[in-house]
Amino acid sequence: MASTLTHQFDTPVYKGAVTFPTQLFINGEFVDPLDKGTIDVINPATCKVIARVSVGCRKDIEVAVQAARTAYKQHWGLKVSGPDRSKLLHKLADLVEANIEHLAALEALNVGKTFCAAKAVDIPTAVSLLRYYAGWADKIQGKSIQACLSTTLDKIGFTRHEPIGVVGAIVPWNFPRLYLRLQRDSALTPFRLVSMLVMKLAPALACGNAAVAKPSEFTPLSALFLCTLIQEAGFPPGVINIVPGYGDTAGQAICENMIIDKVAFTGSTLTGRKIMEAAARSNLKKISLELGGKSPNIIFDDADVEQAVKWAISGIFANQGEICVAGSRIYVQAGIYDDFLQKFTHSAQHLRLGDPFSPDTFQGPQISERQFETPILRRKRVMDYIKSGQAEGATLHLGGKRHGTEGYFIQPTIFTGCKPNMKIVKEEIFGPVAAVMKFATEEEVIEQANNTTYGLACSVFTKDIDRAMRVASNIEAGTAWVNFTNWPDLGLPFGGFKQSGVGKDLGEYALENYTNVKAVLINIGMKI
Ligand code: NDP
Repeated sequence: MASTLTHQFDTPVYKGAVTFPTQLFINGEFVDPLDKGTIDVINPATCKVIARVSVGCRKDIEVAVQAARTAYKQHWGLKVSGPDRSKLLHKLADLVEANIEHLAALEALNVGKTFCAAKAVDIPTAVSLLRYYAGWADKIQGKSIQACLSTTLDKIGFTRHEPIGVVGAIVPWNFPRLYLRLQRDSALTPFRLVSMLVMKLAPALACGNAAVAKPSEFTPLSALFLCTLIQEAGFPPGVINIVPGYGDTAGQAICENMIIDKVAFTGSTLTGRKIMEAAARSNLKKISLELGGKSPNIIFDDADVEQAVKWAISGIFANQGEICVAGSRIYVQAGIYDDFLQKFTHSAQHLRLGDPFSPDTFQGPQISERQFETPILRRKRVMDYIKSGQAEGATLHLGGKRHGTEGYFIQPTIFTGCKPNMKIVKEEIFGPVAAVMKFATEEEVIEQANNTTYGLACSVFTKDIDRAMRVASNIEAGTAWVNFTNWPDLGLPFGGFKQSGVGKDLGEYALENYTNVKAVLINIGMKI
């Protein structure tokens, strides 16, 4: 098995070679998996194999967890000061920044994200995340409590925010996440895989935890390249371990492990449920879950229609619709419905699909054959949902077919004539498929928008600030955007209500995921 990958890029936007090991990264070294398992990594734009990388089994996870536990006790955790942890995170941020083009090229190659968006948004977001949490590393602090009985003349009470220990991080393939910015003609795009992993690792490390991370079986390349930067940054061996592997073996092993103290997960609600069960069956480890969504995008008659169309396009079609917060249910008030639909359709028709390395591409391929069309167990996939929309009587207004003959491309797809109980309205599709629905009143649209088991995000378009505030506060969702879509902020908490998640990523709130709060009481002179 070749243990190093060299990929030569010769594309219109990037030319150069990237070389890195394709083994497991455990205890600061690249090592072969114990059972010599490998997986073929596919380029979703061509369906061709890019590389063969190692995959870890349950035993490899145990070795990685042991390395993390030892590192945590001996060289990290309470042994390293906040400023020193901060320095290492800043160093890693600098290295990621210096390698932006390499990482963006790997993202485009392996995930199908456009190179330009990865370079302009995704990887810079990972850099910002590392710097943001580097800034927190020396500000992890408790409180002196003076209320009630805690602090009196003969007794002091205060809290310490201590690291939890070993954190297991499990992330999906879709992309590290959600920072959008204007690209060309207001085509907006969110952020991806390196950021997703970094979003878990950066706060975990800032708080003094060690980590064992598992990227998706489909997208290990940028994570493996990141390991070379982690080595170069000088983190003590074992503090960060990255083990590519399958969800039902390596992922499950992380969740069932008795030494791991916490699992930070992003992925589907179905897998989130399994993680919660595994945590309950094992050592009751803490969990934070960022799960699926079916976000409503509500556009009132008084909205700026041109802007609403542009944001709605980005909200559902950016990143191939593979965005947890995708505005997949678009509710448009009756007075502007026809105008909106005509403009929205026109824009969707003119989105460019194709090579992620072309500077003109807006939409790349879906990640995999499985995601494209293979339903597994209870999970339908994108083409299957399109068929179900037609079978249930919705009108296929635009698209609905494979684009081209090579790669997993799906045409931007719009359904109209949808009913609240149709699968395309209720379930997360995770592809470029929008359901556009007409509504009459504010009360009616709030009820429809909340008619879902998900509660990740929502958007509201209106010029009436009172209405914006009312709707934002009445929608059951962890994030509400007013007059834009899909724009999480590093400093603000991100996470779902209802079955969209448990706990918050990003901002100061994320630190709660990675610290144990200890109450300390000191007796100064109290005698019994
Ligand atoms: P999955 O839930 O299928 O997988 C996510 C991760 O979990 C992968 O690494 C996967 O491994 C792993 N996994 C699978 N089964 C298990 C298991 N039994 N135990 C432990 N780990 C397991 O999600 P997808 O990869 O399909 O990602 C898409 C989903 O992620 C969508 O539902 C989307 O909404 C959600 N998501 C949520 C976000 C949020 O912040 N709320 C952001 C982005 C995506 P493997 O790849 O090998 O199967």
